[in-house]
Amino acid sequence: MLDLAAQWRLRYAATVVLLLPFWMKISGENLQYRLVSREVVERRLTKYIGDNQQRETTLKQLFADAGCDDQHLSEQPVKGSKLPNVLCILPGSSEKVIIVGAHFDRVSQGDGVVDNWSGASLLPSLLQAVNTEPRKHTYIFIGFTDEEKGEVGSRFYVRQMSQEQIAATEAMVNMDTLGLGSTEVWASHSDHHLYAALVYIAQKLNLPVSAVDVEKVGSTDAEQFAVRHIPRITVHSLTQKAWNDRILHTSKDKLSAMRLDDYYQTYCLLAAYLAFLDTIAGAPSPNPAQP
Ligand SMILES: [Zn+2]
Repeated sequence: MLDLAAQWRLRYAATVVLLLPFWMKISGENLQYRLVSREVVERRLTKYIGDNQQRETTLKQLFADAGCDDQHLSEQPVKGSKLPNVLCILPGSSEKVIIVGAHFDRVSQGDGVVDNWSGASLLPSLLQAVNTEPRKHTYIFIGFTDEEKGEVGSRFYVRQMSQEQIAATEAMVNMDTLGLGSTEVWASHSDHHLYAALVYIAQKLNLPVSAVDVEKVGSTDAEQFAVRHIPRITVHSLTQKAWNDRILHTSKDKLSAMRLDDYYQTYCLLAAYLAFLDTIAGAPSPNPAQP
């Protein structure tokens, strides 16, 4: 999470999920995906150690361990950053793309576990969750560099996208600052349909999700995608309490700040969500009157 201002404004947004009957028709009842164990998710979380360079190396290794081979795993050199973005591509049967991103860099204070190894280290486990059967969408999992210096990696990534690539990208799912509590969405800065789809899946799985808007607190990589009108959603876990406790960008950002039950629930929800998006992303809006 990139700090912009000290003033915190908490807003719980209400979303009316109007699309449920439509989705039930097109998505069917059986989503196919495979969860990795809580032990694996937590083991990956404990590998936050080191500076940003070490974390970049670790993320690559975690992708490789999760089955991303040399042909699909790459580093994208980023202008203005010493470190590259890390990409793992899971090809689908169409040209359509779902991007799943999280920044791996940290600020110097604290251990950068919450912000944002919690997000980055989940990428390989999400890859494994959807890499169980052929998908329509190509999934691109990206560990972004230097979010904390001004969304440098994500800005570069978006700027080098062609018009065709932008048009083909139906969703950008951004994870920043997970595990402080249950799953939250920056709803005011998320695509309505992507947010409603997450609420729908959460209800089906009986997992919590709510909206906490953080625009006075910071920004995050997904905003770079919004600049080019790519539908995006940011998942986080910030609450008023976490903000008051000053966990982010301080010495309190360490493993002990993580609520591991909540963190694994967020993983379970996102795994199902990514599988669900393959069935609905890019579908024509059932309610064109909606903004
Ligand atoms: Zn941050």
